[in-house]
Amino acid sequence: MERAGLPASLVRLWWIGEAPPDPRPLEDLAAHVSRVFEQTVRVDTVPERPGDAYDARRRQFSSGRILQWLVGRLPEDGSKVLGVTDVDLFMPVLTFVYGEAQLGGHAAVVSTARLWAGPDGRRLVRARLVTESVHELGHTFGLVHCRTPRCAMARSINLATVDEKRPTFCAECRLQYLERLAREGDDHEQGADADPDRR
Ligand SMILES: [Zn+2]
Ligand SMILES: [Zn+2]
Repeated sequence: MERAGLPASLVRLWWIGEAPPDPRPLEDLAAHVSRVFEQTVRVDTVPERPGDAYDARRRQFSSGRILQWLVGRLPEDGSKVLGVTDVDLFMPVLTFVYGEAQLGGHAAVVSTARLWAGPDGRRLVRARLVTESVHELGHTFGLVHCRTPRCAMARSINLATVDEKRPTFCAECRLQYLERLAREGDDHEQGADADPDRR
């Protein structure tokens, strides 16, 4: 169903992890993201990896550098790109991050590295990945953190807060999303200011 007045945007999922891509979870993720955002979602095959994002001292990958890497490869059709990885991400002031996104921009990254943890990790990892993917992509559409614990846009402080969330927007965030989408359609020149998402 086409929503009148809204642009036909596209979201792309890029596996940029160290392990080979696992198509089934990526397709499931694409289907879910497509439902939540009401967007066409495509899983692209990307052979390159952001190797220069590795910090040998921390043995982690800089989420900021991965974002820069993604920004340098953005498709010209205005798609949002979510890089999905299995490497452990950090931002300079934080021990780790589950992901990072450009607020109101086009690039986001999310990692499964920390989502396996805990006694139920193997069972929950895919649901957690879906929630955090919605969260980071929500930032690229300009959504900020939400105070509703069950909303995907609630802050991801630890796995308990992640597990409390549903992989969808609360009513307020959904309304904001639709308003943002309409605005993006009016203003294609909206800049990709690299306001980092601090979790
Ligand atoms: Zn919300
Ligand atoms: Zn966030």
